[in-house]
Amino acid sequence: MGRSHVIVVSIVFAIAAAALSVGSMSYLSRYRAGSEEQARLNVFAQRGLVRAQSTLNDIRAILFTLNALSVKPCSAEHIAILRRLTANTRSVDEIDYFENGLLKCTSWGGITDERIEQPAADFITEDGIKVTIRMVPLVSKGNPVMAAQYNAYGVLTVPERFADVIVDEGIQLVIASDTGKILSTLNSPNEQLAARIIADPQNVEDDNFLFSVERSAGFIAIALEPKRYLFIRLHKEDMLFVPIGILLAVLAIGCVFMRTRRRLSPLGELIIAVKKHELIAHYQPIVELASGRCVGAEALLRWQRPDGEVLRPDLFIPLAEESGLIGAITDQVIGLVVRDLQAMLVSDRSLHVAINLSADDIKDGRGLDAIQAALADTGIENRQIWLEATERGFIDITSACLTLGHARELGHAVSVDDFGTGYSSLSSLQKLPLDAVKIDKSFIDKIGTDSASSSVTPHIIAMAKTLHLGIFAEGVETQGQADYLRNQKVEYAQGWLFSAAMPVEEFISYYKKNREQFPD
Ligand code: C2E
Ligand code: CA
Ligand code: CA
Repeated sequence: MGRSHVIVVSIVFAIAAAALSVGSMSYLSRYRAGSEEQARLNVFAQRGLVRAQSTLNDIRAILFTLNALSVKPCSAEHIAILRRLTANTRSVDEIDYFENGLLKCTSWGGITDERIEQPAADFITEDGIKVTIRMVPLVSKGNPVMAAQYNAYGVLTVPERFADVIVDEGIQLVIASDTGKILSTLNSPNEQLAARIIADPQNVEDDNFLFSVERSAGFIAIALEPKRYLFIRLHKEDMLFVPIGILLAVLAIGCVFMRTRRRLSPLGELIIAVKKHELIAHYQPIVELASGRCVGAEALLRWQRPDGEVLRPDLFIPLAEESGLIGAITDQVIGLVVRDLQAMLVSDRSLHVAINLSADDIKDGRGLDAIQAALADTGIENRQIWLEATERGFIDITSACLTLGHARELGHAVSVDDFGTGYSSLSSLQKLPLDAVKIDKSFIDKIGTDSASSSVTPHIIAMAKTLHLGIFAEGVETQGQADYLRNQKVEYAQGWLFSAAMPVEEFISYYKKNREQFPD
C-alpha cells in the first residue's frame, strides 16, 4: 500500500469513525428520549387503569349491597336508602330499580306514569355486571351517563369518573372496555385514533401523537401526547449526547491520525514490510584468493518495496536493531536462505552461505535457535552456514562466548565482521571462540594508496594472524587490492572485483560458471 493509498484509507476511516460516533450518540439520544417519554405515558395509562378499576369497584360494591337489601321495593324506606347511597358514593349519580324489565323507582323517587325499559347492555363484565356506555338518564334526562346493572338494580355514573386522573400538561387519556368500547376520555383525545390503537396497538404509527397502552382486568387505558413533547425531550437529550458524540468523534479521528502517523513512520513501514515479506536476500560471492574459486556467498538483505524501489540494509537495519525488530528479520533471512539455496547446498557440500547476526541475536542466543529450527529437516549441514557478527555483538562478552561457543559446537563457522573498526582489545578477541575475521572495507580501500592510514592495513592483517584465525577481506574492488591480499596470505575475499551482491538466480548461474572455470 503506497503512502497516498494509506492516507486515503485513513481519511475514509476517520470520516467513518466520526460519523459513527456522532451518529451513535444521536441515536442514543433519540432512543432515550423515546423510551423516557414512553415510560412517562405508561405511568399515566397505569393511573387511568387504576382509576377505572376503582370506579368500577365502587359501583360493584353498591350493586352488590343493593341486591342484598331486603326492604320492600320502592317503599319510602327503600327510596331513602337509594338516595343515601347515591349521596355517599362519589361514583354514583343515580340508582334505578327495575321490575320485569321496567323502571319501578329511582333514588329520585317512585315512577308512576312512564313505561321505561331497562337499558340494553353494551358489554357484560366477568362478574356479570351489564354496562351501558352512554345513555340519557332515565328520569332526569340530563347529560349522557353510563349505566351499570346487576339483576334488578342499575347505577348511573358520569363516564368522566373512569378517567378522572391528574395528568401533566398535554396528556390525554382514553379508557375502554376490553371489548374495545370507549368508556371515558380526558382532555379530548382523537377518538378515531384511539379506536385504531385499541384495534391494533402494535401497528399504529401516528404522525402527531405518541401513545402508550396498558391493559388489565377488563379495561384498556391509552395515554396520548402530541409528539411536540417528544421533541422537547429529544432536544434536552441532544444537549447531553451530541457533545459526547463530538468528543468521541474527535478521539476517533485522533486515534486514526496517530495510527496513520505510526503506519507512515519508517518503523511502521518496516514492520509491515516484514509482515508482508517484502525483504529479500541478495548473495555476494566469497572467493578463495589463491584459486579464484567461489566457496560461498554472503546473504545481504534488500527491501523490495511494492513500488519497485529497492532499499539497501544500511537504511533500515539500524532502525530494526533499535526497535527490536531485528530478531524477526534474522528469522526471515534464514528462511530466505533455506528457500533460495536449499537444493544447491544439499547437492554441493562445498558451498557455504554467510548470515549476518545482530547484537541482539548473539546476546540471548535466540538467533542460533532460529537457525537450528529453520535448518531442521532441510538436509543443509550446519557447517555450510557461516555466521558473521560485528564487535558490537560482543559487548556482553560472557553471553557472546556462550552463543558463539555453542554455534561452533553445532558446526557453524563464526567470523568477526568489520574487523579493525571496533574497539575490542586483542586479548578480549582472543577469549572469543572464533574461526575467522572479516577485514573491513575501509582498510582494503587504503591498499595501494599513499595515505598515512594505508600503513594500518598490514597491521590489521598481522593482528588477525596473531589470533590464528582465517582471514576474509571485504570490499575488494581492484585487481591490485586482490594481488596485495593474496601476497599477504589473506585467504578469502569478497567485493565488486568479483561480483556485487545479486539475486539468487544470478548467483546460482555465477556459481555454476565459476565452478566450471575452477573445478576441484
Ligand atoms: P556488511 O555485512 O559489512 O556487508 C558488506 C557490505 O558491503 C554490503 O552492503 C555489500 O553490498 C557491500 N560491498 C561488498 N563489496 C563491496 C565493494 O566492493 N564495494 C563497495 N562499495 N561495497 C561493497 P550492504 O548489502 O548494503 O549491507 C550493508 C550492511 O547491512 C552489512 O554490512 C550488514 O552490516 C548489514 N546487513 C545486510 N544484510 C543483513 C542481514 O541479513 N542481517 C543483519 N543483521 N545485517 C545485515
Ligand atoms: Ca557481513
Ligand atoms: Ca562489513
